[in-house]
Amino acid sequence: MDTLHLGCIADDFTGATDLANNLVRGGMRVVQTMGVPDGPLDASADAVVVALKSRTIAPGAAVAQSLAALRWLQAQGARQIYFKYCSTFDSTPAGNIGPVAGALMDALGTDFTIACPAFPANGRTVFKGYLFVGDVLLHESGMRHHPLTPMTDSSLVRVLQAQTARRVGLIDHACVRAGADAIRRRIAQLRGEGVQMAVVDAVDDADLHAMGPALAELPLLTAGSGVAIGLPRNFGIAPGGQAAQLPPAAGARAIVSGSCSAATRAQVADFIGRGGAAFAIDPLRLAAGEDLAAQALAWARPRLAEGPVLVYATAGPEAVQAVQARLGVERAGQAVEAALAAVARGLVEAGVGRLVVAGGETSGACVQALAVERMRIGPQIAPGVPWCHARTPYAQGLGLHLALKSGNFGAVGFFTDAFEHPP
Ligand code: ADP
Repeated sequence: MDTLHLGCIADDFTGATDLANNLVRGGMRVVQTMGVPDGPLDASADAVVVALKSRTIAPGAAVAQSLAALRWLQAQGARQIYFKYCSTFDSTPAGNIGPVAGALMDALGTDFTIACPAFPANGRTVFKGYLFVGDVLLHESGMRHHPLTPMTDSSLVRVLQAQTARRVGLIDHACVRAGADAIRRRIAQLRGEGVQMAVVDAVDDADLHAMGPALAELPLLTAGSGVAIGLPRNFGIAPGGQAAQLPPAAGARAIVSGSCSAATRAQVADFIGRGGAAFAIDPLRLAAGEDLAAQALAWARPRLAEGPVLVYATAGPEAVQAVQARLGVERAGQAVEAALAAVARGLVEAGVGRLVVAGGETSGACVQALAVERMRIGPQIAPGVPWCHARTPYAQGLGLHLALKSGNFGAVGFFTDAFEHPP
């Protein structure tokens, strides 16, 4: 294969796809792998995104998986490493952003990196180190109710500092606005002061483009997907060309939704409101031993010829809390993920060729159940969500087109619109 410019490590599956999408839009040919591959990459790509499911696991395990991904990317010749996390900086008090970033810095022998979850196209902006989601601070957004990573502090410097022994600093908006040279000077200044990780402000795409050249020499970047828009030019790559081309799509259409994020709840309601066929998975009935996956599949099969079907566990904060109080956070999440993953596989076996999955953890569970090893990234449906093409032993014929949607992403009509964007 050709030179691999950028080697990326993403802490969840939809996040990986979101990053890959921005790189494709910048003109890079991108392959996403599910976990660390066993052998060398057998496809041409300018960037590879290794998708892990390490966001909410124990920090030690997240570090070990991330280092394994780093070693594989280095063996493929990656020139720069990009650790991708969520644009809402999803993490638990123990990590895993700080511990993973620190371990990657040690392994790469670098004393400085940035942290910037900004993704202005999706309303995630950072100003004076504070993360905004749309018009409100992170801790006032729906993220405060997230089932696994509730975010209750909007100061990224504070959140990151609590996860690492390294000093965390800030590259503020005035500096970013002043351009790449000013950012380079600020990095040198912070380094001189012993700061090893700097949160970087960005409120629009111009800020991210300004950042790009200033980051070219850093061995490691840690960021959401937004920072990626300024990087392809560092490698002499411009938007356009054939980077987003996928094989033609075929087969029935379906949506599997395990996200409880505000955007997904609105998307589920919109799909049902338009008369879409939908089947709800109740976690308490799952826990009582009912095989709801089998019931959902029996319900879905005769409907597949008519249009997209939706199978969802998506619920509001009170319902989620009630379920978690009964079952525990982890058990509830795992029971739902396992059921939805079984549904996704059954749907593909029943002839679904275009599958939308809503939710990061949910997507991880579904692609694992489908034994998808890697995906080629195609055209964007909505900011952060591209169509992808994968091989799976469960699909007939041409393979499977997948759209893995991070919970908070997509407009209200996403579950309908996705199928109107031909992959
Ligand atoms: P997002 O991208 O919005 O964060 P995820 O799929 O990553 O979505 O996380 C949602 C988590 O909530 C998953 O572990 C999922 O299994 C769990 N979940 C989904 N529906 C329910 C529910 N009704 N009650 C409790 N937990 C749920």
